Amino acid sequence: MDLRRIQVKVEAVSRIYARNCDVRRDDDWYFLKMQEETGELLQAWLRLTSRGRHKGDTEAQIRLQLEDELADCLAQVLLIAERFEIDVEKATERKWFKYLPEYKHAGNADE
Ligand SMILES: [Mg+2]
Repeated sequence: MDLRRIQVKVEAVSRIYARNCDVRRDDDWYFLKMQEETGELLQAWLRLTSRGRHKGDTEAQIRLQLEDELADCLAQVLLIAERFEIDVEKATERKWFKYLPEYKHAGNADE
C-alpha cells in the first residue's frame, strides 16, 4: 500500500473517530494531536527501556504498544498532510532524497 492510499484510509478513520467521539478537528487539533501521539510514543519507549512503569505488561506487549504509537504518529503526519494539502511524498523527496547519490546523479539536485 502506498503512502497516498494509507493517507486516504487514515483520513476516513479519523472522520469516523471525530464523529463518534464528538471531536472538533480544527487546524490546531492536528498539531496538538501530533504532540499527544509523540508523547505516547515516548512513554512506550520509556516503558520498553525500563525507565517507565510496566504496569504488569510483558516486554512483547510494550513492544506492540511502541509499534502502535509509531503508527499513530505516522497517521497524524498523514492527517496533517491531508488537511493542509501537502504532498508529503513530494516533500520527503525534496527534503530527504536530495542527499542520495543516485538522486544527485539524476540531475535532481545541486552537486
Ligand atoms: Mg496513541
